[in-house]
Amino acid sequence: MHLRYTYRIYPDGEQRLALARLFGCVRVVFNDALERTAAIKASNKLLGPPRARTAQGPYQRVPKNADLSRELIAQAKKTPEREWLSEVSAVPLQQALRDLDQAWAAYEDSKTGKRKGPKVGAPRFKSRRDGTQSARFTANARWKITDQGKLPLPRVGEVKVKWSRALPSVPSSVTVIKDAAGRYFASFVVQTDDKPLPESTDDVGIDLGLSHFAVLSDGTKVANPRFLRRAERKLKKTQRSLSRKVKGSANRAKARVKVARAHGRVADCRREFHHQLSTQIIRENQAVFVEDLCVKGLGRTRLAKSVHDAGWSAFVHMLEYKAARYGRVFIKVDRFLASSQTCHVCWVVDGPKPLQVRQWTCRSCGTLLDWDVNAARIVLAAGRKLAREREAES
Ligand SMILES: [Zn+2]
Repeated sequence: MHLRYTYRIYPDGEQRLALARLFGCVRVVFNDALERTAAIKASNKLLGPPRARTAQGPYQRVPKNADLSRELIAQAKKTPEREWLSEVSAVPLQQALRDLDQAWAAYEDSKTGKRKGPKVGAPRFKSRRDGTQSARFTANARWKITDQGKLPLPRVGEVKVKWSRALPSVPSSVTVIKDAAGRYFASFVVQTDDKPLPESTDDVGIDLGLSHFAVLSDGTKVANPRFLRRAERKLKKTQRSLSRKVKGSANRAKARVKVARAHGRVADCRREFHHQLSTQIIRENQAVFVEDLCVKGLGRTRLAKSVHDAGWSAFVHMLEYKAARYGRVFIKVDRFLASSQTCHVCWVVDGPKPLQVRQWTCRSCGTLLDWDVNAARIVLAAGRKLAREREAES
């Protein structure tokens, strides 16, 4: 399985300049390729499908990566306008073309419904003002972590890395990232072996709570931890302070950096919390079922939840890959819209209830039902059913 391991890196002044140059070149190649492909796609679209052409003209072939690479990297380097492309390693430039290719594919697949989940827009031009900048080196860029633990990057130099945890194996690629707060990171992709955990007899249904981060089918309600709430409060404070600063002033620029830093800390805290919780749940349970929020049609509860879902998909993704890694069952359950009205004990569907109702008594069996826990129990029951069906199929 492929996993990402991210570390903070500390490039010196000269390396920061080299990285800025690299990010700039990656951006230019990406934008040049986008301009080229978008124009062709747009003119092809004007012609309409082959059977019902609405305009005259020949279809043009959309250039492949190899063509773009020849034209926009190799040949461009020989022109005065783009000769500075030869000052950086060519590998991240090739990767920019692959990124664009994938962005187009995601867009097309999303349009035709081949790709599930939220709609993906067409690729957009990158700007130097974008919050994060990045460049990716694959293994063929010939970089290798030194014995001193430094990361040598072609045409950048040996960059200092803070190894917060050990890399489990030799990485296949590294993405260098600069975030909006001006921090630098190296994000490695590594291949890891699956390590099944000893079998557990427990299973769990997890629902995104309305007043909690998550609710488990055993009745546990998981709130956001204090360290995360504190980081979020700090972020709000810096945001308020930013809004009071005069536009265009030096103080406003300073305040903006502070807000970006606070954002970064909230993201770090949230990731840390997701790691802790997902590891614990995977350790304790043989099967994990979660509510799939990415389903069409927003019911009232779902709509309310979409506001709450900060990080839910990131958390679910962690559960998914950890389950695969440790030999656990993981299933996303399309919780039917009536589930907020269904009793998990007798499965009788009660009438609709306003969102602010936290508890109700089932009219059929008389059980006192907590909205969130009932939902998690239904996820558990629906997940068990799916798991049995899948087992029967195989
Ligand atoms: Zn009931």
